[in-house]
Amino acid sequence: MSTHYRQAAHYLDELLKVGNFEQLEERLQPRVAEVTSRIPGGARMTPEAIAKRWQVLNASAEVQGAIADPITIGHMDCYRRHIENFIGTVKIPVGIAGPLQVNGLYAQGSYYIPLATTEAALVASYNRGAQLMTAAGGCSSLLLTEGVTRAPGFAFRSLSEAGKFMMWAIAQQPTFKQIAESTTRHGELVDIRLTVEGNHVYLEFQFTTGDAAGQNMVTIATEAICHYIHENTPIQPQYSFVEANLSGDKKASAQSFLSVRGKKVTAEVLLPGALVEKHLHTTPRAMENYWRMSAIGGTLTGTIGVQGHYANGLAALYLACGQDVACVAESAIGVTRFEVTAADDLYACVTVPNLIVGTVGGGTSLPSQQACLQLMGLAGSGHARAFAEVCAGLLLAGELSIIGALASGEFTRAHQRLARGREPEQE
Ligand code: NAP
Repeated sequence: MSTHYRQAAHYLDELLKVGNFEQLEERLQPRVAEVTSRIPGGARMTPEAIAKRWQVLNASAEVQGAIADPITIGHMDCYRRHIENFIGTVKIPVGIAGPLQVNGLYAQGSYYIPLATTEAALVASYNRGAQLMTAAGGCSSLLLTEGVTRAPGFAFRSLSEAGKFMMWAIAQQPTFKQIAESTTRHGELVDIRLTVEGNHVYLEFQFTTGDAAGQNMVTIATEAICHYIHENTPIQPQYSFVEANLSGDKKASAQSFLSVRGKKVTAEVLLPGALVEKHLHTTPRAMENYWRMSAIGGTLTGTIGVQGHYANGLAALYLACGQDVACVAESAIGVTRFEVTAADDLYACVTVPNLIVGTVGGGTSLPSQQACLQLMGLAGSGHARAFAEVCAGLLLAGELSIIGALASGEFTRAHQRLARGREPEQE
């Protein structure tokens, strides 16, 4: 988190334009007296509660109308248990990419994929990659493994106390499983890992979560186990927490990359050179050259995994389909590989180990998000694994398109045309 000294000096110069050091210090002081009204109503979802919140905001009619529009207010009840301090909705455009042919263990067929974004060129890019893959017969996509963890932490006085606790905890595994599974009809406790650091013990409980993404499910199940531990352990910890930041929840971590968090999927496609040239205006060799150089670039900057822009497609798909968008932080890591085959075709694959996705629970029940899942035939129970395989196919489409654009030299022009509405030469 260091800053180069020249940049720091420049920044200080800019700061001092606002005022001298005393004035700057004054600006940064706490101002308790200036805190204005609290936002009233918490989780209450009534026209009166919303009106009171808008009163506090003292906004213009235009601002209020854009957020608390009549359609939103008309069906606000559906947002109950999804938001607090509700004042309305923001509207994000949805585009459609596809068809994307996915030949998976669970996903089988041609999918039109809804993507919600405000970034021009994004849908066009995924659409182009999807059409190329579909023209080649589609991608193979395979769910490899799944599991969502919660990791409570326990602090003891000494290593020997920590050791005794671990011996007890290991013997409790069948009881932990029975307690956890009494809190859910769909979650299963499938593994327990232990990490010791001095007198701290982390228990990492791994669950399968049916068709739900599962973060609430595993939290509730783990809380029940923790309760049992406190009631029964022969060695009481000095303190403990239901989650001690070892699960990788909502952050990119090497541990999740090396194992699984959510669903781990790999997808591949074999593209004849002629198709690459027709759809991407470049060659398999140029694509491989770009991929190799970008893989080294990623390594030089210390990225976890090596990939081009998984976050683009995932954020847009997660938004459209009621997934927890914050999970893009953990989901958008993995490995992309492009290789020219002996027959001069392009072999391309992605492997994504941290897809936190569900087709029930969370935001998937909201009307437009549910509709987006329905567009793909993936709403509700029995579809989460297929959805994960489609996610991986989409990411492969995005990697092909962006690498094609960079390899052919079209990357900048596409963005200028689609985002700025003009060709570079018109500038
Ligand atoms: P959830 O909506 O809290 O729970 C899923 C519900 O669907 C459960 O009641 C489950 O029943 C039920 N269900 C019905 N059919 C199912 C099926 N086929 N498979 C699985 N479950 C089925 O969702 P969640 O997935 O557990 O949690 C996701 C939400 O947690 C997201 O909104 C996310 O933003 C949020 N979140 C929570 C935490 C946290 O620590 N609490 C952290 C990050 C994110 P059973 O429980 O009886 O199985």
